[in-house]
Amino acid sequence: MNKKILGLFLFTLILSGCGLGPKEDLESSVKTEEVVVEAEEKVEEEEKEEEVVLDPKDQIDLSLLPNEAGKVMVLMYHNIGPEEKEWVRTPDNFKKDLLTLYEKGYRPIALKDYVSGNIDTQAGYTPIVITFDDGNKNNFEYLEDGSINKDSAISILLDFNKEYPDFLPRVTFFLNGDIPFGQGGLEGKKLDFILENGMDVGNHTRSHANFKDLAKEDLEKEIGGQANHLEGLISNKDYRVNTIALPFGSRPKDDSLSTYLREGSYDSKDYFNIAILNVGWNPGFSPYDGRFNFESIPRIRASEMKVDNVGMYNYLEYFDNNPGERFISDGFSEVITVPEEKLENIKTNPEKEIYVYKIEEVVN
Ligand SMILES: [Zn+2]
Repeated sequence: MNKKILGLFLFTLILSGCGLGPKEDLESSVKTEEVVVEAEEKVEEEEKEEEVVLDPKDQIDLSLLPNEAGKVMVLMYHNIGPEEKEWVRTPDNFKKDLLTLYEKGYRPIALKDYVSGNIDTQAGYTPIVITFDDGNKNNFEYLEDGSINKDSAISILLDFNKEYPDFLPRVTFFLNGDIPFGQGGLEGKKLDFILENGMDVGNHTRSHANFKDLAKEDLEKEIGGQANHLEGLISNKDYRVNTIALPFGSRPKDDSLSTYLREGSYDSKDYFNIAILNVGWNPGFSPYDGRFNFESIPRIRASEMKVDNVGMYNYLEYFDNNPGERFISDGFSEVITVPEEKLENIKTNPEKEIYVYKIEEVVN
């Protein structure tokens, strides 16, 4: 099916590339017809050839050692501010983080693409998910002249993307309370800006609630109420806020209530979360791994202070030393490429084609 679509796409490219567009000086209609018939035959031949070539597996570069059973880091940030603290990164340190990730071959993907397994990261590179919690003003601040504060997280991300166009600002902001980013009157404008620039808005509850002892009604109010509130601020009325970062990483003590983290209803409107994010402390499974659980996605603190050896830089070092543990993209979202010894981790029926290879056969 995918192959056919790719084939058709190429066919279109061939058509437009074969000079079959409008001709300005046609000598006679008869001649034109001959030309068209000849060209059509040629196109049919080329189309057949291209279809054969276009199996993505033939285009996957195994020498890059793709491993789509590898781990994916979901980074957790909070504040950007002038003084480095446990939950504050300075603008310079945030830029350093982005540059380090870039140079080590990590490329941001949307959280929603991570959980749905729609990973089209460039071949040989590793997807990474970046998140910000709490919607602090230092994440996104408009100045009086209407410009965005250059030291805001959002500004740093967009500037970095200008310098490194293949490092997209695919960040999710998890927002709690009435006025995300703390500037009343500008909430809607900010959320629209985020979505228009390829970033995302997630749920962090009405009151930054601790879910431990909450009753069903309160869980639904905290989650559904905030989804409704944020959706109300966003101009695109089709947009759904359907990812959540648990405040304090807390879950109901009564396990039977956990279902309300995922789905429920508030004020006659249903919600369904496709990703539920924890606070700590390790890299996430590949979305194709049988152990991947969208209802419990671990995150890694993107900090260097009090990280107990499980912070972002610890894991960057870990993956440098254990490259076989790292997710390496094959460049095609429709194929899952894994070295033979990792195949056992891939879930049954991943609804995509699996391509297995032997590392010793591609390393020389
Ligand atoms: Zn929080």
